[in-house]
Amino acid sequence: MRKVLLAVIVLIVCVPIAFVLSRSATPAIDLPTSVSVIGQATPIAVHVRDPRGVRNLTAFVEQNGARYVVWELAKPSIEKDSTWNFTAGVKTTPQLRDGKAILMVEATSNDLLRKKSHVDHEVTVVTQPPTISVDSEQHYLYLGMADLATFNVAGSWNAAGVRVGDQKFRAWPMPGGKAGLFSMFAFAWNMPAGTIPQVFASNGAGNDVTSPLTVQFPKKEQPKYTVHDLQVSDAFMNKVVGELDPNGSGDLVARFVKINNEMRRANNKTLSDLRLKTADRFLFSQPFARQAHSQAEATFADLRNYIYQGKKIDQQVHLGYDLAVTQHVGVEASNDGRVVYAAPLGIYGNCIVVDHGYGLQTIYGHLSHIDVHEGDAVKRSQVMGQSGMTGMAGGDHVHFAMQLDGVQIDPKEWWDSHWIQDHIAKRVDLPGFQK
Ligand SMILES: [Zn+2]
Repeated sequence: MRKVLLAVIVLIVCVPIAFVLSRSATPAIDLPTSVSVIGQATPIAVHVRDPRGVRNLTAFVEQNGARYVVWELAKPSIEKDSTWNFTAGVKTTPQLRDGKAILMVEATSNDLLRKKSHVDHEVTVVTQPPTISVDSEQHYLYLGMADLATFNVAGSWNAAGVRVGDQKFRAWPMPGGKAGLFSMFAFAWNMPAGTIPQVFASNGAGNDVTSPLTVQFPKKEQPKYTVHDLQVSDAFMNKVVGELDPNGSGDLVARFVKINNEMRRANNKTLSDLRLKTADRFLFSQPFARQAHSQAEATFADLRNYIYQGKKIDQQVHLGYDLAVTQHVGVEASNDGRVVYAAPLGIYGNCIVVDHGYGLQTIYGHLSHIDVHEGDAVKRSQVMGQSGMTGMAGGDHVHFAMQLDGVQIDPKEWWDSHWIQDHIAKRVDLPGFQK
């Protein structure tokens, strides 16, 4: 009888403890390692998971043997999965000095056992924003065109470049081991006049500084973009829709317009993202070459009205040159470089993109055949494939375009050795360049 009683008592006491133990959890803390620098007031987001929520959650910065609380949860939370945002930095912890420190987060589970967990990682405290000194050059801005600025950034920084409106162009160390930085930037075809390009530098700690370039925007000499009506025949519409939306159904015009908008946008994003596949040196030493013996059937930033059966069904801006020679002509690389794309790309058909370094790239569309592969080095005027009319093309031609850090620009300046001399080679080392 006693034994039974004892067993019952053991059951009554131990089962709930075992139950609590089995249910008790340790909070899982996720402190992003992307926070590597702490400045004035650096935003931090901590993600915590615990089936019972957290009783305490505290963030500390430890430096030179001292520990400072930078943030604390005001009251226990029963949320199982939560993200907490706070800032850490000199503003709230003035004792911090420039140099290494440890960022820590400690969490206590909200259940009976109050299990604790802890994460930490090393950070650098940077109390001063970087400083920028910009070249004293006058930069002449033209819609759709490029230029090059040189500047210096001092102090601690992890990102710098030229910002034009909402577009960013990376800074690179000056070639040839010279001191300072440079950035090739574009003033996009649709950038509002009066936008002042700014050199920027940031240190990842919320310190972002800018300094304007000295610019001129010659109003009278700006390119004038032309407007064209493009007659969409039934044959062209059927060709485009059949090739680019073969499994679709429904209204032909709606499908055509969808291709011309959604697919165009997606294809342009793919092109723009190739900015990250670039060499950190100039791969070319000569002016860019235009496809030999070619006629330009369309030029950069022409506005196209798409007319079908007398009605305007769409409007797009054409961000390149349509260069026609004869059918199946050899498509020539415009300059020395490296192939970073060689595959079908929607409205551009079979498409090649060649990188020339520092974010400068050339694009070749509508090929009937591609003879190069991603990674291939190509030489100026080397034949890379054959022209054709794949993608959104009504006749055999090469769609030739250029982009700088993902922003499409007018190639014509790059065909001009004087322009390259005055805007590039005069400002940075362009090895082997002769005007
Ligand atoms: Zn084109």
